[in-house]
Amino acid sequence: MASTESAIASRRASASVQNEPTELLRVDGLRKVFHSGAAEIVALSGVSFAVTSGEMVALVGPSGSGKSTLLHLLAALDTPTSGTVYFGGNSLAAFAERDLEDFRSRAVGFIWQRHQLLADFTAVENVAMPLLIRGNAASAALDVAREWLNEVGLSDRTQHRAGELSGGEQQRVAIARALVTRPKLLLADEPTGDLDEKNTESIFELMQRLHGSHHLTSILATHNLSLAQRADRVMCLEHGFLVSDNGAVAPRADGRGASGNSSILEGLG
Ligand code: ADP
Ligand code: MG
Repeated sequence: MASTESAIASRRASASVQNEPTELLRVDGLRKVFHSGAAEIVALSGVSFAVTSGEMVALVGPSGSGKSTLLHLLAALDTPTSGTVYFGGNSLAAFAERDLEDFRSRAVGFIWQRHQLLADFTAVENVAMPLLIRGNAASAALDVAREWLNEVGLSDRTQHRAGELSGGEQQRVAIARALVTRPKLLLADEPTGDLDEKNTESIFELMQRLHGSHHLTSILATHNLSLAQRADRVMCLEHGFLVSDNGAVAPRADGRGASGNSSILEGLG
């Protein structure tokens, strides 16, 4: 009997792995305090939420509300003052330094507002860089990088220096570079903040397409509310507090974070 039950339980567990969305990310009571001289700046205050694998989340909020700080903590580029980030159920705080390096360079792709490309290197060298840093052979890394440039629509720009590309093209290179290690989680910090309307639209469409075709989980900080509304879910930060979250996925036992309303964008911007 016990063995039948355990067989059913294990079959259920494997079915849930295959068919049901799983929780990729959870943050619990995240708090970040910066010290600037004698002043204490509370950038995040008790932020808690979970993100299911495959979700595209828009993170909105006024300038200074804590969006970048939150993304940096999720990418393990900084550590929280208190609270915990869990990735795939594991606390980042428990990772050894080597595992953290692996997490940063493989599990997460990060796109910055100002692309942060190396201006004197070619597009293909910039995209290959994360693979070269990880010790991959140069010719293989450059081949993979060329495939990614093709995927972001820049196959005719591989040999251009990054500094010679337009803003929209640079951001496409940055997206290819963020994805070249095949991360599960894509974090983007106002990736269209410096672009005009037409480039904003095409970069957002590209991110949506790659999100779907590469089964990514994406969190995108943006000031652009019409873009935010096209994500699966919108979370809003104000003064370091998560003040609204219309995510219907991953409801909590206490009912928070699952309201499913879409009125939270009203009054913003
Ligand atoms: P957002 O990305 O929403 O504009 P940030 O996360 O950059 O907001 O900043 C949140 C708050 O934390 C702001 O008040 C900002 O000045 C402060 N802050 C961010 N980074 C630092 C830092 N390294 N040192 C001191 N204060 C910081
Ligand atoms: Mg910011």
